[in-house]
Amino acid sequence: MIDDSIWLDPLPERCDFLVVGAGPAGLVAAIHLARAKVGTVVLLDRRDPWREPVACGEGVRLGPFVAASPLPVEPWIRQSILRCKLAAPGGAFVWESTKYPGAVIDRSHMHRDLAMEARRLGVVCHFRTQAKELTPLQDGWRTLRMESTKGESTGSLRARSVIDATGPGAGLDRSAGLARGDADLEPAVFAFVEGMEFDPQAIELWYGKNFAPGGYAWVFPSSPGMANVGVVCAKGSKVSPREGLRQFLQLRGGKAGSFHGGAIPCTKPGMHPLGDGTLWKAGDAASVANPLGRSGIVEAMESGAMAAQAALEAIGGDCTTQAAALGGYARSWRERRGKTHEWVARIKPHISRVDDDLWARLFTNLGRIPMGKHTWFRMVWPMLKVLPAYFWRRLTGKA
Ligand SMILES: Cc1cc2nc3c(=O)[nH]c(=O)nc-3n(C[C@H](O)[C@H](O)[C@H](O)COP(=O)(O)OP(=O)(O)OC[C@H]3O[C@@H](n4cnc5c(N)ncnc54)[C@H](O)[C@@H]3O)c2cc1C
Repeated sequence: MIDDSIWLDPLPERCDFLVVGAGPAGLVAAIHLARAKVGTVVLLDRRDPWREPVACGEGVRLGPFVAASPLPVEPWIRQSILRCKLAAPGGAFVWESTKYPGAVIDRSHMHRDLAMEARRLGVVCHFRTQAKELTPLQDGWRTLRMESTKGESTGSLRARSVIDATGPGAGLDRSAGLARGDADLEPAVFAFVEGMEFDPQAIELWYGKNFAPGGYAWVFPSSPGMANVGVVCAKGSKVSPREGLRQFLQLRGGKAGSFHGGAIPCTKPGMHPLGDGTLWKAGDAASVANPLGRSGIVEAMESGAMAAQAALEAIGGDCTTQAAALGGYARSWRERRGKTHEWVARIKPHISRVDDDLWARLFTNLGRIPMGKHTWFRMVWPMLKVLPAYFWRRLTGKA
């Protein structure tokens, strides 16, 4: 769904809250700020947030997604997901769990509805405008220099509090002294594929060193007869995700349209500060995606709400108030997901080393558990059975 009208609400000279980036993190943050009715909120993006294709598989776990969304999610559901097929060349099993349903969503639709809600609440929405440079704090204000997408300067804007929700690697915070390298970006490529056989109520995750070293390939149902198929590889792997996707399509079949790319910041959770008391980071700009699953939609929405809460607590306050708000944000995030992500990041290198035949063996063993009975308790034994082979290969240098 594309809205061709240009959203260029007149910008004030100054605002209380400036949110840069209208992805899930920025949209949720802007709505939370506007609902608090504390001051002017400006939302800026270099493109129309609903422009398609959104670089994403669009898969979410339904429960956390519903909880994180400021609006009812039903209109955005493309497909309810009841099963997950885990596969490697030579073995597969289908995990059916009614306890954790998922969904494939229409992000373009979601972004548009959230932007409309933000605007309805009084947020100044200014799109097709790029944030170029953000100054450090001076007399309680930061100044943002902007350019149109055609490269023309569109002036500057002063803000008391800024939320950086610009996604991976934009580095808006660099000049403001919160620099983050792009060291934790993993490349991903996807395409919409027709003529592939897939279960419309299942997502597929495939492991294989030929096509997705250190990562995985996905098949997510997108619309009737059409799948969103993609590959994410470990950073620095020898196979590029583009080449990996080509190989995976040979294995799975189907006719792909054009390839689209993106990057997911997901290897070093907790390494970067979440803000400094007047500049806050949320979503991919804060590297909050799950390091193993590489999911980041819900994480972005959750951190967007938390960053907005922290910005509200800190606005107009002194250094102590700002530090307390920052501490609160860091603690809330750590409790919500940070601790789990740090743990997951630790086991990720081991999982990346598992050979294809061990994946196949594991999935075949798991496939022997009757459908619908895949509790964690029942799955532990099949997992333990492949561990000796894994450790033997590590010891003998074969993995
Ligand atoms: C190929 C791929 C597949 C994925 N699949 C899934 C999935 O299935 N499920 C899942 O949960 N996650 C998935 N992710 C991750 C997920 O897409 C991100 O984690 C999520 O979009 C992060 O949201 P965000 O709001 O932080 O950033 P983004 O969605 O990246 O939004 C950032 C916004 O900032 C704007 N922006 C950037 N720089 C500037 C600037 N200088 N000035 C103005 N605006 C700017 C951009 O235009 C953009 O609209 C995938 C990622 C990729 C790349």
